[in-house]
Amino acid sequence: MATLEGRLSGIGMTSVRTRTRMIERLREQGIRDEVVLAAMSAVPRHIFVDEALAIRAYDDSPLPIGHGQTISQPWVVARMTELARNGGKLERVLEIGTGCGYQTAVLAQIAGEVYSVERIGALVAKARRNLQSLKVRNVRLKHGDGSADLGEDIAVDAIIVTAAATHLPTALLKYLKPGGRMVLPLAQHDAGGEGVQRLTVLEVTPGGYREQVLDAVRFVPLLSGLA
Ligand code: SAH
Repeated sequence: MATLEGRLSGIGMTSVRTRTRMIERLREQGIRDEVVLAAMSAVPRHIFVDEALAIRAYDDSPLPIGHGQTISQPWVVARMTELARNGGKLERVLEIGTGCGYQTAVLAQIAGEVYSVERIGALVAKARRNLQSLKVRNVRLKHGDGSADLGEDIAVDAIIVTAAATHLPTALLKYLKPGGRMVLPLAQHDAGGEGVQRLTVLEVTPGGYREQVLDAVRFVPLLSGLA
């Protein structure tokens, strides 16, 4: 029986060149962190999308993954990972919004351990299958609501929230180690900011928190409760 890899190789989608082109484009778009670029060139993105969309897997666009959700575009995954890493070492990372598990797999290349939380049960199952097929082992998935307290005793170097928050999810801040960073798309409430989300970095400093508001982005909303 033909494997997914086998079928796609016939149309050139698994060729090293296809992924190399994505990495070249990320460089042109300003991604500088070589560790992040190496991780993204190691993870086959077409595994994470439906077969009918595999031909577009390496385009720089989000794609539907079912349940009204999307796989984030490559630039967004690269940028958030670069901001979370900030040139340092990531022992443990918390991701809110697993979706199909693509960002999870990229983080798993870089961090010692990834803990990822998703509110839609069917997507937790899908991500689990995808990550198992790639033999990614240093990931723990949880069906839970990551906009609230997770009821866990964990300390992480970084939190990546991959759904747009209208307000800072303060319940998560206690999970950050000193110097740790939360990276998230946050809705802007100021002048004319209707519907505008910006990547925001919140860093734990000795005196409190430091906030940086960066690139304009477009994410599905962070919702509460389980589905
Ligand atoms: N990280 C994914 C992005 C998936 S889209 C990738 O690599 O492509 C964002 C995901 O966040 C969706 O699957 C959505 O169901 C999930 N989500 C939204 N609100 C959430 C919440 N409160 N807790 C956990 N997951 C949430």
